Amino acid sequence: MSLLKPSVQTPFHIDFEWWEQNDRDWRVYLRSLLCADHQQSLADVQEGALIDWIDPDTAEVKPVDGIQHALMSHCALLPDFVNEHTAVVEAVFRIFLVNGNQPMNAASLSKQLHRPAETILRTLAGPRVYRGLRPYQTSKPQDETEETEAAAV
Ligand SMILES: [Zn+2]
Repeated sequence: MSLLKPSVQTPFHIDFEWWEQNDRDWRVYLRSLLCADHQQSLADVQEGALIDWIDPDTAEVKPVDGIQHALMSHCALLPDFVNEHTAVVEAVFRIFLVNGNQPMNAASLSKQLHRPAETILRTLAGPRVYRGLRPYQTSKPQDETEETEAAAV
């Protein structure tokens, strides 16, 4: 299996499967990103309870975790969620939370973060996976187009 070397045009996203396989405490981490109000109000919320979230760009309805929903719709939008002191990995992770995990490349991330695209790429494309940030692969096995093809055969 050969992977293309990622470039500043390679889209990245948060791979939640990676989290499930490598760090079962990812919900604890998500919780830690909540604002003070939501830390309190969601203290008793069941882990993994799903809420419908409507993608503001595509109007597509996606089921998301209740904690994730609060982060995306409120906490991540607070002015200090990402500032110039936030580490690159953290800042990138938070951007994906806010945008509903829409894949973005280092060039676009660079514009949002006001940091060099090369720095972002080097961090994301290194040998270690941080926070589940990985290249976005469009050809997943459960892809609809593949199902259609299989049906045609
Ligand atoms: Zn909040």
